[in-house]
Amino acid sequence: MARRSRAAENQQTQVIEIKQLLDTFLERVKKDDLREQVRSLVPAVHALRDLGSGLVKGEDVRSARDRMLAYLLKYPKTLIDGDELMVVSGIGEWARRVRELRVQYGWTIYTGATLTEVVEDAPEIVDELEAMLRMKDFHLRPDQYVLMNVNQDREAALRWNQLNAIRKKPGGVKAKLLEYLRLNVGHVVTGEELRYLAKDNKEWARRTRELRTEDGWPVVTRMQGRSDLSVGAYLLEEDRQAEVHDRNIPDPVRVKALKRDKFCCTYCGWSRNNLNPDDPRKFLELHHLVDHVKGGANELDNLKTLCNVHHDQVHAGGLVWNGDEWYEI
Ligand SMILES: [Zn+2]
Ligand SMILES: [Zn+2]
Repeated sequence: MARRSRAAENQQTQVIEIKQLLDTFLERVKKDDLREQVRSLVPAVHALRDLGSGLVKGEDVRSARDRMLAYLLKYPKTLIDGDELMVVSGIGEWARRVRELRVQYGWTIYTGATLTEVVEDAPEIVDELEAMLRMKDFHLRPDQYVLMNVNQDREAALRWNQLNAIRKKPGGVKAKLLEYLRLNVGHVVTGEELRYLAKDNKEWARRTRELRTEDGWPVVTRMQGRSDLSVGAYLLEEDRQAEVHDRNIPDPVRVKALKRDKFCCTYCGWSRNNLNPDDPRKFLELHHLVDHVKGGANELDNLKTLCNVHHDQVHAGGLVWNGDEWYEI
């Protein structure tokens, strides 16, 4: 007969104890003293908690936070109920520890609330999320969690300090979002961070989109052709705002124009696949052939994809569109 492991034996003992404690509780219920009933349930609740917190094992699992992390890492890209984390953590304040894992330790853990707001703002993403979470009819509760990425972001602790400094300042949500993104040019930040900055106000997603569409900041997500970014990741590509006349392009038109041009500069053919530290070409922009302010429409026919270098050249007058192609003058 196979020997039962010590852990299983322990569990067996714990369960027997809990049963006994519940029996005692039942005895108390027969008497009518409420206080006695409550007090007799306390040891059973503690014992159940111990049973749950003993489920996740491992050498580097020492704290409640470690146990929740180990559990999330075992089931990445999976919808986890907060109640499950409560069981494996064995502590009452588990939700605060999850936030620490996310913002101080850099684990990309999304809440149902944030993912729902990401989808509300960019409904195109819903199919991908449903596929990832193996679910139909997207619906997440705020108290559900998903570990989006099994790799830790080691710069998160530094950003946590920035986040808190900016969060405390007076001023509107959009200004704070922009300040934070500009401190992290070229680095991915998460929707959870932006939401925290906005003090959990759901307008964070719309305001972040406005920075791109209305204000012309190159804030990109997966939906702007950056398939290397995960759902809910945001990145300010460069610390520069588009020319006034190249702003106000609605997201669906922007994406269509980029796709039509195959995410390449229409002059030199540069794409993100050619990204190279020695090359001044860093990102793609959209240019209006007829200036927006002069009545040029935010429509496909009036938009051309250009790399930042050639876009600058166009605005400096060195590159002209003749109706068919660009020519240098
Ligand atoms: Zn170019
Ligand atoms: Zn332009």
